[in-house]
Amino acid sequence: MKPGMLMVVSGPAGVGKGTLVKQLMSQRERVVLSVSATTRMPRPGETDGTQYWFKDRQEFESMIRSNQLLEWVEYCGNYYGTPVGHVRSCIAEGKVVVLEIEVEGALSIRKQFPDSVLVFVLPPDLAELEERLRGRGTEAPEVIGRRLERAAEEFRFLPHYDYYVINDEIDAASDVMARIVDTEQLRISRNPDIVDRFLT
Ligand code: 5GP
Repeated sequence: MKPGMLMVVSGPAGVGKGTLVKQLMSQRERVVLSVSATTRMPRPGETDGTQYWFKDRQEFESMIRSNQLLEWVEYCGNYYGTPVGHVRSCIAEGKVVVLEIEVEGALSIRKQFPDSVLVFVLPPDLAELEERLRGRGTEAPEVIGRRLERAAEEFRFLPHYDYYVINDEIDAASDVMARIVDTEQLRISRNPDIVDRFLT
C-alpha cells in the first residue's frame, strides 16, 4: 500500500484554494479532503457536511473540550477546526488527506505531523486577489476589508511552507499540485518497504 500523507493547503481568502483542491481530487483519486467544523454561517449553496460541518459556538467548544479537533483557530470572529477522526482513518488507509486551513492551523499540524507537506497558494498579484474577493460577492465590504488585512498577515508565514503554487490559471496550478503530491509520495522516508526490499 502506498503511504498515507497529510497535505496542508493554505492561502488568502479568494485565492481559489477550494477550486484548486477540487480539481486535484479529480486528477488523483487517492486525494481526499478533510471537512472542517466552523461556527461561520453557511454561504449560499453550502451544505452541512460538504464544505463544512456547521456548528454553533457551544457545539464547537464542546468539540474542543472533548479533544475531537486536531487543531482549531478563531479566524475573523469564527471558530474553525479539523475533526480528528476522519483524518486519522484516511491516513491509515493510505490516502492523501488535504487540510484546507489557515496559517496558524498549518503550523500546529506541522508540529504534530512533522512529515506533513505544507503548500501555500498565491495569487498572481495583490490587485488580482482584491478583485477576486470583491467579485465573489459573498461577503459584506467590511468583511472583505478584514480578509484583505488578514491576507497580508498570512503572507508572513510563507517561509514556514514547503511549496508555493501560483493560481494564475487553474489547470496549470492543479498540475503543479499533482506533481507535488506525486513527488512527495516518492520520498524514501515515506516508503520503508522499498528500503526493506533492496537491503539484503
Ligand atoms: P472561509 O470562511 O473562507 O471558508 O475560511 C476562512 C479561512 O479559514 C480559510 O483560510 C480556510 O482555509 C480556513 N479554515 C477552514 N477550515 C479550517 C480549519 O479547520 N482549521 C483552520 N486552522 N483553518 C481553517
